Amino acid sequence: MIIYGSKMYGVKNVVKGTGACPHCGVYGKHKSYDGRKWGHLYFIPLIPSGGPVRVMKECAKCSMASHLPKDQVAKLYADIEKHMQSCILAASEGVHQYSDDQGNDTFTGPFLIDAIDLMFTAGYRKEIPELIHLLDSDVSRYEHGIAIGAYQEIQGDADGALAGYQSANSAAPEEALPYMLLADFNARAGRSEEQLAMLDKAIELESENPQLLLAKIDPLERLGRYQDILVVMEQAEQMIPGLSQDKQYKKQRKKIEKKAAKAMR
Ligand SMILES: [Zn+2]
Repeated sequence: MIIYGSKMYGVKNVVKGTGACPHCGVYGKHKSYDGRKWGHLYFIPLIPSGGPVRVMKECAKCSMASHLPKDQVAKLYADIEKHMQSCILAASEGVHQYSDDQGNDTFTGPFLIDAIDLMFTAGYRKEIPELIHLLDSDVSRYEHGIAIGAYQEIQGDADGALAGYQSANSAAPEEALPYMLLADFNARAGRSEEQLAMLDKAIELESENPQLLLAKIDPLERLGRYQDILVVMEQAEQMIPGLSQDKQYKKQRKKIEKKAAKAMR
């Protein structure tokens, strides 16, 4: 039997992290590394197929990952660094929003979460504590908490992450993001009531965001509160044009309606 296939060889600069997989949605361990795909015969590397790449967030569950050509990794980091300067400047002035070089409104919290995720998986892990140190002042306590939370979370330290997000929350209780992050934490811990309470806080602050409403469906379903789901769906349908015509959504709605009727009996 001849075994021919392709596999990553020359694997180095491995970092192991924790987070949600963008492909299968499972929250778990992932791995990022430099490598090169080679065709192989009996597991002897034969032909390089494609150049060297950075494999990012290879999921332990589904094995899917993002591949970035090695020569683009440094460019990606340079972009993050440039952006980060504006973010740090805004934070040092006590504002959580700034315009990027294209004039787009950007929020410090979501940017820091994405940037730390990318720095970690792209191989710039050592730069993250320096960044956190730069944010360590009373005026930027919100950004500091978010950055600590994101860094601890990707390292798999749930308690450390929680402490970071809670500190961001007390520094800026008017920001919805920490409530959303805390809602995710409670969801993973199976605390549906607490998850709902956090989502409601976020909705109070961002009433225009229908995604927050839809996020309530899961915990409400776990609690068997089908009538409440229908109320949430009604509100979401008014906010998202076309939602009530969406095939998958209609199917979900029908399922909930059935369960609600059954619970009434
Ligand atoms: Zn996955």
